[in-house]
Order: sequence, then structure tokens, then C-alpha cells
Amino acid sequence: MLPAALPAFAFVDLETTGTHAAGDRITEIGIVRVDVVDGAPQVREWSSLVDPEVPIPPAIQALTGITDAMVRGAPCFGHLSADVASLLEGCVFAAHNARFDYGFLKHAFARAGRAFTARVLCTVRLSRRLYPDAQGHGLDAVIARHALDPGARHRALGDARAIWQFVQRLYDAHPRSVVDEAIKRLMRIPSLPAQLPPDALDALPEGPGVYLFYGDNPLPLYIGKSVNLRERVGAHFSSDWRSETDLRLSREIRRIEHEETAGELGALLREAILIKARLPAHNRALRRKEEAGVLTFAEDGAPRYTPAAAIDALDLPGAYGPFASRAAMRACLRERAADHRLCWRRLGLERRPQGPCFARQLRRCEGVCVGAEEPAVHDGRRDAALEPLRIPPWPAHGPAIVREAAPSGDRVDAHVIDRWCWLGTARDDGELAALLDAPPRPTFDLDVTRLLLRRHASRQLALAVPDRALA
Ligand SMILES: [Zn+2]
Repeated sequence: MLPAALPAFAFVDLETTGTHAAGDRITEIGIVRVDVVDGAPQVREWSSLVDPEVPIPPAIQALTGITDAMVRGAPCFGHLSADVASLLEGCVFAAHNARFDYGFLKHAFARAGRAFTARVLCTVRLSRRLYPDAQGHGLDAVIARHALDPGARHRALGDARAIWQFVQRLYDAHPRSVVDEAIKRLMRIPSLPAQLPPDALDALPEGPGVYLFYGDNPLPLYIGKSVNLRERVGAHFSSDWRSETDLRLSREIRRIEHEETAGELGALLREAILIKARLPAHNRALRRKEEAGVLTFAEDGAPRYTPAAAIDALDLPGAYGPFASRAAMRACLRERAADHRLCWRRLGLERRPQGPCFARQLRRCEGVCVGAEEPAVHDGRRDAALEPLRIPPWPAHGPAIVREAAPSGDRVDAHVIDRWCWLGTARDDGELAALLDAPPRPTFDLDVTRLLLRRHASRQLALAVPDRALA
């Protein structure tokens, strides 16, 4: 009797003056609201004619039987909007061709000065999913196929009753799990792998943190992070199309662990540490990260790519990047070279030792490679062209603190950062003092440095210089 994981359902049908939600008007509303209480459906029916405040086209009057004379004196939508909103409150909005009814109501609510959103279930799509071979999924076809008896057709309440009856017939005709699954998939509600407890998602907070998926083995299968743990974990199991990794995770997962963090930065840092320490089988990101690096140029103009493991954080400010890989760096250089008529050979983009470079042959290099431009001039233009990629100077004399407060306000993490690298995170003054007294050597992590630089660029990184009184 309707999926237990969902709130109440409102089966809705509207009669209108036409088919354009933005321009046409509602003439009648029918709602069958179904709340499931202790496993039994409690059904409440409501309907009203609505004065559209415009004439109803004769063809529509003939189809619905709703005439100008009938709606004269009926309330306009503005007068009904509060009642309709409270009837639909907290419900899944279910309708036959739901986009139509939902669009009309949304516009009508908007004109009445109310915002309206709901989770939507389209019963045409539900019919198609469960009866893919059936001829026709319009309401007449569905009523005939399932021998429904809704009373007045083409009147709002009759049609709303018909779709409620249709859903009941589905549960009579199929195993409950089949109908539940079809509804959940149409609504993109995560359906968890059967090995997990059904409330596994409810146990997760809707805040930032890291999550660990385990199979039978004590080592995790997968580690991830999110600013909304419940939503992110659900997303692994919800979409119609799942990645190879998600399919494998669905088969192998046995339990989920999570750790909350104060914010996004904390989650990212914790994920990076956990992945390095626990080496989960399905995290591909780790290997990729080893290819990350930064670019510098020697005095003689020679480019040098330094991979992540060899990066000394002290040298990070002033270098270019960070890049995800040497290939990403080269692609970026080629683009800048084309825009600024730089030399492919001098940028290290080609190996041939002499003659005009590839760009020169295409007349896209000013010609430092053939003596047509002074090297110092080329390198000056190069520095200007690459300036947007330059890692900015570190704005403190040593380590600085980024405080991150949980949305709930019940914890504040203090991340200690030096030269765009992370040194550690303190949960209280004692831990912070210990970290600042004996700071570890900063180590480079692509994602951490990128997040810090992105926040710095958008002025969202509040760096505090340590208060030595703490130490
Ligand atoms: Zn050249």
C-alpha cells in the first residue's frame, strides 16, 4: 500500500482552459490525499470548481462539461490556494502526465504569491514501466485495461480517483517490491542494496563528513566525502544509470561507516588521509593524484615539471599549477601558447632540437626558436601569459589557521595550513598548541591545495595567524 519510505501521496487532477501552464487557467481541482497510518491508507477527497477569470473555449467546455456558467461564482485560485497548499503539504504529487498538472499548479501558486514544490510521481511513466508492452497509457486506456470505476470522467475528482485506483490495482497485480521499486526509480529515490539495513541512509547525517563502504573484508571498499553525507551515499545507489564502480559497490557492500566533520575542507582533508592510510580497493583517485605536479622555469628558460611526491611545499608559491598530470599541464601550455604566440620548443612542448618550432611553421610563434625574438622578451611574455596559473605568495610568515564551524554550531575544527598545504587539524586549544609548537613538514595534496587556492581566489579563505599565547 504505497512505499513505506515515502510520505503521504496526493493524487491530483486538474481541468483547465487549455494546455499552456503559463497562459491558460485552472477550472477545477480534484485531490485524493492518501496518508498511510499504521499500514492502512487514510483517504481524504477534496475538489472544487475554480473561476478561471477568462472564458472557457467551447471545445474545452464540450470535452470536460465544465461551462462558463458553472464556474461563474466559484472561488478563484487565489482564494483556494491556502487550502490546496495545506492539502498537498508534505505529499508526493502524483498525477497522470504529472508534468502538466504540476506545471499548472506551480504557475497558479506563483500568481497567488506562493512558492510550490513537491516530489512528483507521473503515473503515465509508472504504467509504461510496469506494462511496457501495453497499447496506450493515457487515462482512458488505463481505466479500460484495469477495469477502474472512478465515476465522472474528465472531471477533476473522478480522474484523481482513477489514478489512485490504478496504483492500488498495481499492488494487487504485482509483488509489492516490484511496484515499490518502480515508484522509487521513477522518483529517483535511492534503493539500497538488499544486504544493507533498510534504514542505513537514515543513520547518516545531512551534513559534511566522510563515508566508508565495507564488504566482508576489514579493509574498506571505498572512501568518499561530501557536504551532505546522506545525499551523497544515496546517490551511489539511486541513478538509473550507475557507473561500473557503483555497480560493483552495490554488489559488494555490507556496511557503511561515517565520520562527521565541521565542513567541506575538513571532509576533504579527512578523506585524503583515510584513502592514503586504508587503500580502498575501488578508489581510483589515489593513483591519479601521484601524477599531479607543478611547473617552474629555470633561469635559462627550461621548463621543469615536479611531480607531487617531489614537491617541496616551501617552493609552491610562485610555481604554476597545480596540474592533475603532466598531460594536463602540456594541454594547458599549448592553449596559452596559441593565444600568446609563444614558442613550442622553448615551452618544452616539442623535442626537435633545431629549426622553426611547430607553432612557428604555422606562423603562431613570434620566432624565438629561429632568432627572430630575444629569449628574455619571449620569457617575459610567457610569464604574463601564465600569470593566471601562478600559485600566489603565501600571505603569512608561517603556518596559519583556517577555522571551520559545523552548521550545527557544536564543533569548530582548526585546520593548520602552510604554503597552501595542510599540516593538521585541531579540535581544541590543546591540540592546536601542540600542532603549532611542533608543526610537521607540509606535504602537497592536489585536492587540498586546489580547494585552498579556489577559496583564496574567491576571498572565502579566512586565514588567521596563530595566537602565540595559546602555545
Ligand atoms: Zn617557436
